[in-house]
Amino acid sequence: MGIIIGIDLGTTNSLAAYIREGKPQIVPGRDGNLLVPSVVSFDEKQGVLVGNAAVNRLLIEPERTIYSVKRLMGRGPEDVKEDMKWLPYAISPESSQVVRVVVGDRQYTPPELSAFILKELARSAEKLFNQKITQAVITVPAYFNDAQRQATKDAGKLAGLDVLRILNEPTAASLAYGLDRKKEGNIAVYDLGGGTFDISILKVRGGIFEVLATNGDTHLGGDDIDHLLMNLVRDELKISHGIELTGRTRTEREFLQKIRKAVISAKHRLSSHETARITVDFSDFTYQRELRRDEFESLIEPIVQRTLDPCRRCLRDAGFSPGDLDEVVLVGGATRIPLVRRRVEELFRRKPHTELNPDEVVALGAAVQADILGGLRQDMLLLDVTPLSLGIETIGGVVSKLILRNSTIPASAVEEFTTFVDGQTSVDIHVLQGERELAKDNRSLARFQLKGLPPMPAGVPRISVRFLIDANGILSVSAHEKRTGKEASIEVKPSYGLTDEEVEKMLFESIEFAEEDFRMRQVIESRNDADTILSATQQALESPEAAMLEEAEGQRIRGAVASLQKAYQGEDPKLIRDRIDELNEATLHLAELIMNRAVQSALKQND
Ligand code: ADP
Ligand code: MG
Repeated sequence: MGIIIGIDLGTTNSLAAYIREGKPQIVPGRDGNLLVPSVVSFDEKQGVLVGNAAVNRLLIEPERTIYSVKRLMGRGPEDVKEDMKWLPYAISPESSQVVRVVVGDRQYTPPELSAFILKELARSAEKLFNQKITQAVITVPAYFNDAQRQATKDAGKLAGLDVLRILNEPTAASLAYGLDRKKEGNIAVYDLGGGTFDISILKVRGGIFEVLATNGDTHLGGDDIDHLLMNLVRDELKISHGIELTGRTRTEREFLQKIRKAVISAKHRLSSHETARITVDFSDFTYQRELRRDEFESLIEPIVQRTLDPCRRCLRDAGFSPGDLDEVVLVGGATRIPLVRRRVEELFRRKPHTELNPDEVVALGAAVQADILGGLRQDMLLLDVTPLSLGIETIGGVVSKLILRNSTIPASAVEEFTTFVDGQTSVDIHVLQGERELAKDNRSLARFQLKGLPPMPAGVPRISVRFLIDANGILSVSAHEKRTGKEASIEVKPSYGLTDEEVEKMLFESIEFAEEDFRMRQVIESRNDADTILSATQQALESPEAAMLEEAEGQRIRGAVASLQKAYQGEDPKLIRDRIDELNEATLHLAELIMNRAVQSALKQND
């Protein structure tokens, strides 16, 4: 049985964890840091960079450096319009159902981009365990809909990982705190990360978790604080220097990224200090500003407040008042902010857990779940709920809900429908997700047809529609007409998801391009070696020993230099290597002469 790792695939940071001797531990990234920033950068020379190496390029190559890709997972171009105003990279105007991020002359879907991050995490784990990692548990915000969960699974597949379970982040955090060992209790998990806010209320009893209710906001987190501070700086730049940064030109985008970096570091400092300085170097002047914690707190108060209503709604859905809670768990880097901690404590009237690093608890909990799936701890069963209601469109564009929000999953429901026109031979089934009454106000997940019905009078056919949500929260829908036995069981293809064929194609392409990437690396490495030998030869030709060479020998060296320089222009690593060998051979005698002098002068010095 191979090792199963737990992965927190975050908007801002991702990390992997595993269980060693019963204790969850973080897999260190290849650069030694525990958190791997969820950033992927495409460099013409160095290929694909992930994590901190990519973050370093946010300023230099903003349009080739992709961050916050989790915001794009399982979403369509319309969903991400607001985000794209802020993100320095572009999405293809040809994006139809699935967003496609443009990088140079290539396009990547969000699952492909996430796969680079997952591969990086898996590689770190492989290095640690010295064995191939092929299985993982990946966490997602409880609010993620079907398409987003599916996209996350696709990302795992593209990274060569068998995703054994998609786990809700709050469930993972509770596991990390070992709250499963409580005899009985009610837990609120407040998770404010970079891009998502999640509040969940769980019940634990006899080692079993049940998510009673979830709420939150898929567009609320530390990023919003960053945007707010960026706006502050932009406004001040406009007033004091008349500079307006719209992000239209590359230089402007680079400045915006600089501002972003500066405000984030000030924000972090303010969690443990009373003041911070925002410093941004522009080409002709330096912007500086002192930010006090109280000033910062009044700026971000509205953002923190925006988290409180979902908390109240969640309590209400669970049928609780704050006094019913036994534990409050803080998750996400943004919960390090003292104001956030104060507001959470005031609302729930309870001191929240902060013993574990809030950036790590989700990955640690994913490792616990991985361990359970690995069969070592079968004592525990996890129950989750579906965050939104699911149903189908019926006559008049009204939604008939089959599975209500906050139902425990896995769940299934069957309902019977009929036709409303005489002689109808096919029925459209429109699958919807959401709480609104009218189909047009809900999210359209899929449409399919039950065809080939014999003509019958309206109201006679008995069409039974079955919904099934599996343990990962992924939905499948089937329909069948009972009198004729006609069936149309389609796999729900979420509107913004990728088809199996598309995923296969990407897998194929990633292998294909891996070869190209590999070849490019060979070219780069051979050019680097060529640089070394060319400059060494240049120096040697200027040495006194060069004058001692015969004319023909000198000519041979210069000829070899010229052919290496020519090969250098091309992209054939083998040719470059061959020319390097030739030059090495041609300079052998000269190198010997120089070596002799070096040895002699060294001997002299020792005398
Ligand atoms: P995600 O789950 O979205 O990947 P994380 O849990 O890693 O996010 O949290 C990332 C967010 O936490 C970022 O907005 C980051 O700036 C913020 N953050 C991290 N450390 C601190 C800190 N010391 N003070 C305030 N915010 C912080
Ligand atoms: Mg998170």
